[in-house]
Amino acid sequence: MNPTVTLPVLSMLLGGTLFEIDLGRPFDLSLPLIADREGPSAWYVEPLTIEPVRANGWVGAVAEGGSVNFRDIAFNPHGHGTHTECVGHITEVVHSVNDVEIPAFLDAYVVSLTPEETAAGDLVLRAAALLDSLPDEPVSAVIVRTLPNAPEKQTRNWSNTNPPYFEAIGLAGLAQRGVEHLLVDLPSVDREEDEGELAGHRAFWQLDERNAPRMDATITEFIFVPDELPDGWCALNLQTAAFVNDATPSRPVVYPIKP
Ligand SMILES: [Zn+2]
Repeated sequence: MNPTVTLPVLSMLLGGTLFEIDLGRPFDLSLPLIADREGPSAWYVEPLTIEPVRANGWVGAVAEGGSVNFRDIAFNPHGHGTHTECVGHITEVVHSVNDVEIPAFLDAYVVSLTPEETAAGDLVLRAAALLDSLPDEPVSAVIVRTLPNAPEKQTRNWSNTNPPYFEAIGLAGLAQRGVEHLLVDLPSVDREEDEGELAGHRAFWQLDERNAPRMDATITEFIFVPDELPDGWCALNLQTAAFVNDATPSRPVVYPIKP
């Protein structure tokens, strides 16, 4: 028996136009959480560990004579792999990203941006470049692919590398336009060393001088956007693991428009 599954047709309003979405061509933008230094990392975290439980002579490893594989995992959601965070990342009360209700399918827009080198040698994603690349119509989620799109981003240890970051005013602009979800292929939207200012995070969540926190807005970091996924409209399914925490591992899957 090999039943044929016919995928239902998903039609979505993207920027005011009804498009058919290609559910048979998913692009998984998440990076896997892998033990040791094989996955991406940042913020000087120790390597992610996955170790068999050992207790009273019992071992959680079949290869070592145990009945099952039963392993403890230690990791930091911000430092290892794809994760989604909410405003609780920078508030005294640690609001949980698990409380954010994310629709099953979001209208999303993919943009490719080349960081600009500043006189000080930083690589910055300029507000104008970001905002000019968006459509005029409202969009729920913006997915940023930074160029060059080196495959090695999928396993890089970003600690102490001063990665590219966003000009905060650009992220304030996204908030102003009602963009609820921002996804980036960088370890942060802010400069690695910014004396704790987190200007970009604050601007996006409106915890700057506007002080109007956007409780349902999320930032997803450490994605990888394959070259095969074109810039422009798509449907996004942003799944988050159900941790009660400011940030949690996540799996953004994008479905392109049917050609
Ligand atoms: Zn983070």
